[in-house]
Amino acid sequence: MNLPLPVASWQNQLQTAFSSVKELCDYLHISSQHLPLLDDTANFPFKVTHDFAACMEKGNPNDPLFLQVLPVNQEHVETPGYVNDPVGDLEASSGPGIIQKYQGRVLLISTQACAIHCRYCFRRNFPYTDNRISSSQLDGLISELKRRTDIHEVILSGGDPLMLNDHKLQDIFSQIESINHIKRIRIHSRLPIVLPDRITPALLQLFAHSPKQIIMIVHANHANEISNKVKEACHLIKSTGAISYNQSVVLKGINDNVDALQQLSEVLFETGIQPYYLHTLDRAKGTAHFAVADEQAKHLVSQLTRRLPGYMVPRLVREIKDQPHKTPLI
Ligand SMILES: *Cc1c(COP(=O)(O)O)cnc(C)c1O
Ligand code: SF4
Repeated sequence: MNLPLPVASWQNQLQTAFSSVKELCDYLHISSQHLPLLDDTANFPFKVTHDFAACMEKGNPNDPLFLQVLPVNQEHVETPGYVNDPVGDLEASSGPGIIQKYQGRVLLISTQACAIHCRYCFRRNFPYTDNRISSSQLDGLISELKRRTDIHEVILSGGDPLMLNDHKLQDIFSQIESINHIKRIRIHSRLPIVLPDRITPALLQLFAHSPKQIIMIVHANHANEISNKVKEACHLIKSTGAISYNQSVVLKGINDNVDALQQLSEVLFETGIQPYYLHTLDRAKGTAHFAVADEQAKHLVSQLTRRLPGYMVPRLVREIKDQPHKTPLI
């Protein structure tokens, strides 16, 4: 009798994630020899989950998901205006802690780890250690939040906050939940997309039982990222009463065409996820090859606005250092 294979836990899946381009290329039947690869990825290592790789097209070196994770030698090119900390986050926080840029909301950097390393990421130049917030650091942050009655929303960010285990998240949630003036807990995570098994029954319980409104902001850039497994995970999140949004980055060669953006909005909406922001690239060092000109991005979104109902059109924004909110470009 054929018994179903046991599903590896999400932690296990992280441990067995692709950790070299060669390994991923072999899996995809792509010859890595002709790719203009980056010689040294020590600062921002290669990392891709099997679920995300499974959404890539075999044999296609221009696959829009493959290009998001491929370390290419263009990362070495120095481009004026592309800096280590384009949005001023590193300045605002050295390691786990609180970043406040906007009124009423704070961002809590709970871990710097991610399940996948997206080459366009503005955090790519952050010290990418796996350091999680310690209990004493968390105590300090919570006492600060208790004093700050002007804060109504805590955004768990990182890295990726869902890299923390359920136990640790429960701890963070219960501390935040004890603060009356906090109304909402928002989670910014790419894990529902790149590691859908992270949506465990314990996590769903945590959302369902929270006295605070839970907002899940996922991050997908292309419709191909939304597999059936991702859809299931997102429907489960929705079933807890949490509200889900998506943010994307407009990326050259990946989603810089109106068909790709339309398909993304449509599949997100089918999945119960509301398109939220379409960010222009944060100008982090090593990412210039992903840049789409603002005029082009504006043109894409105006085309999208003709094709889709308004509620499916994401807001095109840029994060500008020292501005009190994300800056709309249209
Ligand atoms: C983007 C961001 C937020 C959230 O902004 P919204 O416009 O509310 O989505 C909050 N804090 C920081 C530091 C941010 O970068
Ligand atoms: S923070 Fe988000 S975009 Fe950046 S590497 Fe991690 S998962 Fe990718």
